[in-house]
Amino acid sequence: MLSVFSSPGHYVQGRDATAALGPEMGRLGLTGPVLIVAAPSAERLLADAWRVTFEEGVTKPVDYTVHGFGGECSRAEIARITAAARAAAAAVIVGAGGGKALDAARAAADDLGVPFVSCPTAASNDAPCSALSVIYTEDGEFEAYQLVARNPALVLVDSSAVVRAPARLFSAGMGDALATWYEARTCVAGRVKNMRGGASTQSAAALAELCHRTLLADGPAALSAVRQGLITPAVERLIEANTLLSGLGFESSGLAAAHAVHNGLTAAPQTHEFLHGEKVAFGVLTQLVLEGAPSEEIALVLQFCLDVGLPVTLGGLGLAGADRSVVRTIAERTVAPGETIHNEPFAVDATMVADALLAADGLGREYVPTAG
Ligand SMILES: [Zn+2]
Repeated sequence: MLSVFSSPGHYVQGRDATAALGPEMGRLGLTGPVLIVAAPSAERLLADAWRVTFEEGVTKPVDYTVHGFGGECSRAEIARITAAARAAAAAVIVGAGGGKALDAARAAADDLGVPFVSCPTAASNDAPCSALSVIYTEDGEFEAYQLVARNPALVLVDSSAVVRAPARLFSAGMGDALATWYEARTCVAGRVKNMRGGASTQSAAALAELCHRTLLADGPAALSAVRQGLITPAVERLIEANTLLSGLGFESSGLAAAHAVHNGLTAAPQTHEFLHGEKVAFGVLTQLVLEGAPSEEIALVLQFCLDVGLPVTLGGLGLAGADRSVVRTIAERTVAPGETIHNEPFAVDATMVADALLAADGLGREYVPTAG
């Protein structure tokens, strides 16, 4: 099996980075008419900066149109974006907002064969750098992964936007990034295919490991600053961990049980109001239980989740008192054919997953941090 490492063409991050969007795109030759797919909050925050950067930031003004994102990364929304891009004769699609807005914009750009520029306004998940969109039904249930041909030509993260988003999004990004190393090491050890169909590289594994180390070292301090809307070096490191390291790590090393558990959890409508990274964090706990990880390692994850406000129980995901049939439904969805849980180095079935879910929930409920 060949080794494959996949990444965006360019990555730009920092305070008021949106001001550099026009010049950066100009340097990369992305100067045609632009369709910006924007979540409402992103448009409110960035509309003025777009006007300035596209009218003054490059040698000549760039025509751009804004398409308001409908809220769900569904086939219907992707078709609406594709139609808007055709109407605007867009040569580039820019996505601005959270994971779903970016995923829908990326899928539409792929359908049209035009370059995609990714502008996350929150550090809430590992999607911005990838060549993968997660497609949901109109009702918010996981439907499929759509692999697109190319990673974004440019990922531009405006740290000023990230610290103005709700802090809960930042925490969720840490939950998603927490999974990166645990899933990567399982995939590397098992020599299974990564998201691009190749073996992992030392580079991808090292990035996943750095992601984990950064979370543990800087996570709580960064969250504290973000709660006050402040940008510090710890915040910048965490934005990079949640966005770049987690994105490169998962895509080029691979996913395992944690993300499959996330997909399984979406089968229970009670979890729909919870964020991707919140469900993934519980997926990490479940994966460690399923893999028979040492209790010190599980305690480390429990403590980190508690420190940064991530759920450690089913009740924390809206499933308090859920009966066995709900857990069974989640477990069956988790082990659906093609799911990344089958990257685990042993055969996994729904009964094992249901037990691991309930055992992880029990550990979360019983966990009492040791003093000091
Ligand atoms: Zn994820």
